[in-house]
Amino acid sequence: MCGRLAGWLRLLGYDAEFAGKNSKVPDIIYRSLREERAILTRNSKISSGKGFLVYQVKSENFFGQIEEVVSEFKLPVSERMIFTRCIACNGEIKITDKENVRNVVPAFVFQTHNKFYSCAKCGKIYWKGSHMELAKKLLNKL
Ligand SMILES: [Zn+2]
Repeated sequence: MCGRLAGWLRLLGYDAEFAGKNSKVPDIIYRSLREERAILTRNSKISSGKGFLVYQVKSENFFGQIEEVVSEFKLPVSERMIFTRCIACNGEIKITDKENVRNVVPAFVFQTHNKFYSCAKCGKIYWKGSHMELAKKLLNKL
């Protein structure tokens, strides 16, 4: 239920996995135990148990949710951490050579940018564009 929240936590540099709509509660709990993760949910039927922490997200809008989670878990938010995680898959993002993306990104983007980043897990390519601006706005608000 918190997919957008997961994406924005990743954007801030936090390791956030997302359990899809069809995930079963026992599987989510098992995974949280195995990977030592807190469970963030809007489902009031799931509560903390032995060895796992469930946090009920109260806010309905994603910005409120981010504020809530950052404050509740006392997560440091810094510009240095932004864009260290892939928004799509939670993989780690590293700087990549411009040549590596020549035929991958649109020609206009290739010509107008010099720094590119790629996800080690899914290969998604990032550059300083709209996402970065959005992230900075969010950072300033937080
Ligand atoms: Zn990725």
